[in-house]
Amino acid sequence: MSVQEQYQEIQEELKAASEKGGWTTQPDVIAVTKYVTIDRAKEAYQAGVRHFGENRVEGFLEKKEALPDDVTMHFIGPLQSRKVKEVINEVTYYHALDRLKIAKEIDKRVDHTVKCFVQVNVSGESSKHGLEIEEVKEFIEALADYEHIEVIGLMTMAPYTDDEAYIKQLFEQLRKQRDEIQSLNLSHAPCTELSMGMSNDYQIAAEAGASYVRIGTKLVGKEE
Ligand SMILES: *Cc1c(COP(=O)(O)O)cnc(C)c1O
Repeated sequence: MSVQEQYQEIQEELKAASEKGGWTTQPDVIAVTKYVTIDRAKEAYQAGVRHFGENRVEGFLEKKEALPDDVTMHFIGPLQSRKVKEVINEVTYYHALDRLKIAKEIDKRVDHTVKCFVQVNVSGESSKHGLEIEEVKEFIEALADYEHIEVIGLMTMAPYTDDEAYIKQLFEQLRKQRDEIQSLNLSHAPCTELSMGMSNDYQIAAEAGASYVRIGTKLVGKEE
């Protein structure tokens, strides 16, 4: 299938899943292009995709340079402190904030306000990045010190499993945590958004109320 056909199918599935969950809007699709060429990313643009995600500095800068100016670029992976300055001025959304050290470095280097998602390891799997759910509130409160960081929401990666009920429960836990932070009315942390759902679980995420799904393999494929 072409990227265009995949995109259409995904949009329809997201619409149905969002309605099933009782939501009046559906998530925006971020095309994760880390596995594919610039040409494939441009194909996604032609199909109507305007949000693009990359998890490494080099790939991010290369795709940003090649794509038209009206795309929104999302940095979706962990950033190393020494790499922050190479990329941060090109980043509109950062999806993987989980350390104060990185927040401090971003704040020092950046020329605009970065819309950040705090990454949460809801399942508690040791292999994943992100904070434990119990640590989220204190971490977000501490981010008030960094004027260029705006916490717009929470992000998670579910484990790779076909246990849909389990994944759904993880996404709902993240949503409840989002609601709790939002209700604190912190001026640096409106925390209205949820970044969750990938190729394997975007329909579950949409049903659970995702605002952004990050889709690579299923949308643009995976080149070896
Ligand atoms: C690679 C990646 C994705 C997309 O993964 P697919 O399974 O190919 O859809 C989404 N989010 C993050 C953080 C990633 O690193």
